[in-house]
Amino acid sequence: MAFVTRFAPSPTGYLHRGHAYSALTAHRAARDAGGRFLLRIEDIDATRCRPEYDAAVFEDLAWLGLDWEQPVRRQSEHLADYHAAIEALRERGLVYRCFKTRKELDIGRAPHEPAIPYIGGPLAAGEEAERLARGEAFAWRLSLAAAREALHGFEGLTFVEEGAGPHGETGVVQARPETAGDIVLARKDVGVAYNLAVVHDDALQDVTHVIRGQDLFEAAHIQRLLQALLGLPTPTYRHHGLLVGPDGKRYAKRDKAETLRELRAAGLTAEELRAELGV
Ligand code: GLU
Repeated sequence: MAFVTRFAPSPTGYLHRGHAYSALTAHRAARDAGGRFLLRIEDIDATRCRPEYDAAVFEDLAWLGLDWEQPVRRQSEHLADYHAAIEALRERGLVYRCFKTRKELDIGRAPHEPAIPYIGGPLAAGEEAERLARGEAFAWRLSLAAAREALHGFEGLTFVEEGAGPHGETGVVQARPETAGDIVLARKDVGVAYNLAVVHDDALQDVTHVIRGQDLFEAAHIQRLLQALLGLPTPTYRHHGLLVGPDGKRYAKRDKAETLRELRAAGLTAEELRAELGV
């Protein structure tokens, strides 16, 4: 089978060393397998994406010496496709409207803790109609209970991990979508959520290998469930370890990791960076 992989950044900040490592790793895997390397721009969150970050993705990757197939898929141009997928799930009774505010959802959560998985269900028809009539904002959530009922084999979903999860998970991994609760598939301000768009596009683009950082390992569990519900194939996963900086902390946009642009401006060459990263 042909080998197809991708690098799928969200242009919500400038790329840093961690992105370079991920893109170079995926690109090299495609080359080693005689396969294809795609670049996909995951710009569905209009509240966080910026054109300057978007343009920088192309500049930075070209500076690294990477090439990718044309045309580049840009998720913001395909929102109707994602909405159709959500609509199909809705028709099967697998999603429901959730009117909970962030504040309500965060009750009992300390600021440094991750979001508390939410499990709920549709409101009674009368109350829902009233809140809709009042124009209250809601999110579409995937109902785990409905998915469990609809999907024969829900408990036995697995995926193949050729890399490793953060706790060394590798080989055939049992999917545990329930740990994330009823995930949000769409919000008022962000019409489609990351997990749905990724699963849709990986299938559409015939991606056979998802190569990305371990920080997205947990997402594979949810994505596996969405693949099953949408009747889409499951790619092989290769999650790689995350680069850590001299302080032992991983590179991340929010920690103001030195961006590739900054490194370049400071005179670092792409060859030097590749040597440092070992890819
Ligand atoms: N767009 C996601 C991110 O930048 C990555 C998606 C993926 O590789 O599955 O974190």
